[in-house]
Amino acid sequence: MADQGKLIVVSGFSGSGKGTVIKDILDRYGSYSLSISATTRKPREGEVDGREYFFKTIEEFEKMVSEDMLIEYAKYVGNYYGTPRDYVEKQLSEGRDVILEIEIQGAMKVKERYPEAILIFLTPPSGKELIGRLKGRGTEDDSVITSRMKRALEEAEGVGGYDYVLVNDEIDKCSECLHYIVQRCKDVDNGKDTPFVSKRAYEVASDNGAGVGLINGIKAELAGLLEGDER
Ligand code: 5GP
Repeated sequence: MADQGKLIVVSGFSGSGKGTVIKDILDRYGSYSLSISATTRKPREGEVDGREYFFKTIEEFEKMVSEDMLIEYAKYVGNYYGTPRDYVEKQLSEGRDVILEIEIQGAMKVKERYPEAILIFLTPPSGKELIGRLKGRGTEDDSVITSRMKRALEEAEGVGGYDYVLVNDEIDKCSECLHYIVQRCKDVDNGKDTPFVSKRAYEVASDNGAGVGLINGIKAELAGLLEGDER
């Protein structure tokens, strides 16, 4: 029987480039599977049911919750999002490493249920870069951007609950680093004493607050910008 795969949670600010990094890692390495979430959010232009998300009505979503079909779920900016259980458990049992791209409340629930999961918080190098990416995406109007910025501030509060903070400065380097983190966690699980060495990732438990400090700096920049907007 194959060894159980690793469950990898990737969260991060909206605009941190999570989607791009995850796509890169899936293309580059053959060992990862991406869980497709269920959501009550309406599809954005170009999104396809069953590819980006399983788009559900509130009633359908609530039925999935009551039938315990989701590993976790959370409400984010007015919509429900949740991780379907069957796919994740099947992939893990086949030895595949499964990536969940989810927000913080869900991440914490996953850690409770699957303590061996690896929780990674992805961030752009600075607040300025983050705002630029949020605006550059052009798929959302200003009020949505503002509500996402506010939500980003809240999300940053919980970064201490993650295992790693990973800086997305260059996509390919960032996905190599993510892969390195996963491989090293497997080494450690197998009793190997592989040290953690990285230029763009912080191991939250052992970095004396450097990773959390980086996020707090970005948070302060965002808070300043939001205050400017509201004045
Ligand atoms: P978006 O609407 O931009 O696709 O996603 C909004 C947020 O929901 C993102 O932070 C994304 O990571 C999160 N998200 C997507 N799927 C899930 C899920 O299954 N569970 C949870 N808790 N969050 C999710």
